[in-house]
Amino acid sequence: MKPNHRRCVSCRKVGPKEAFWRLVRLYPSHQVQLDRGMGRSVYLCPEAECLKVAQKKNRLGRSLKASVSNEIYQTLWQRLATSSPASQYQPNGQEIPNPNRVNSQPPI
Ligand SMILES: [Zn+2]
Repeated sequence: MKPNHRRCVSCRKVGPKEAFWRLVRLYPSHQVQLDRGMGRSVYLCPEAECLKVAQKKNRLGRSLKASVSNEIYQTLWQRLATSSPASQYQPNGQEIPNPNRVNSQPPI
């Protein structure tokens, strides 16, 4: 694995760490939080499928050896909802904005 590359706990995909969400088990409190902090970290693709698997199988909690609160999952689901689900991650890690998503129709 290249330096600065990380692996998703759900699908095992490897990519630059900026492409993933980071969860950190803080030292020494063992509290789990997002994005920043010192301690043991796990990475997850910002994708519904990976989040779903991580939540269902407790991949994050098991990797961190700490309990991941519902709030964390809720925050991540919210991030997914507010980001553009149609955008694609390219191999170089850049996101392609998709303006059509903004005016997407509600499901019928
Ligand atoms: Zn993944």
